[in-house]
Amino acid sequence: MEKQTTRPGIFAVSAPSGTGKTTLNSRLERDHPDVEISVSLTTRKQRPGELAGKHYHFVDRSEFEKNVAAGKMLEWAEVFGNLYGTSKAEVDRIVSKGHKVILEIDVQGWMTAKPKLPGAISIFILPPSMIDLWHRLEKRGTDSPEVRWRRFQAARDEIAAGRIYDFFIVNDDLERAYKELESMIVSGEPGHTSQEAGEALCNRLLNEFEQSDKILELKKIRQKV
Ligand code: ADP
Ligand code: 5GP
Repeated sequence: MEKQTTRPGIFAVSAPSGTGKTTLNSRLERDHPDVEISVSLTTRKQRPGELAGKHYHFVDRSEFEKNVAAGKMLEWAEVFGNLYGTSKAEVDRIVSKGHKVILEIDVQGWMTAKPKLPGAISIFILPPSMIDLWHRLEKRGTDSPEVRWRRFQAARDEIAAGRIYDFFIVNDDLERAYKELESMIVSGEPGHTSQEAGEALCNRLLNEFEQSDKILELKKIRQKV
């Protein structure tokens, strides 16, 4: 069995796609030179504006699978048809500089990594409402309507599994949410919303997904497509 040592200074930050984790984490990395977002491997295509080695290490499936087979990955998952994963070497590289690491991973990835990283702190960022999340996915404009709808469905599943996180932040007002994230990661303060309150927030979002008229309307439109 792999030796387990406590790994403070490691933060898993997850959020349903479109919630704002890239916006928040990138700003934190820019403002604080001792905070680094771990650069993942992915098989997805590079998007315009993305830099290889900065946003992701872009690899093909066979190279990704070689890394998995060689035991080099801390965790990996298939997300929207592509493979994404964090290498052990990347986390060690950042930790060995005395820097704090943000793992920007999905919920499945955190489920795998959590038992391997005792002492790490996990933060789940939530949208203020599901309809706000839908509008953010639309506004970002990076996806086709089909993919946007898949991300929205996946958001529901991620929120349903959200209770595994230590702390929760609602990204309503960007400045407020940023300060909350910054105080946890940079100043080491506990979050304002711990597991029990976070679970209630997740349940509220799940109810909205099932029952709100606006979302029922979106579902009807999808069924007609
Ligand atoms: P994620 O990385 O979680 O998929 P992004 O950071 O790409 O999400 O944000 C999705 C969209 O929502 C972007 O257009 C971003 O500018 C916007 N956004 C992020 N935070 C907020 C906020 N607090 N209020 C309104 N819009 C936001
Ligand atoms: P995107 O394609 O929008 O960059 O990312 C899609 C999803 O993949 C996001 O939910 C993001 O958190 C997740 N993701 C990115 N890197 C990793 C990783 O290394 N491991 C896992 N498990 N998920 C990742």
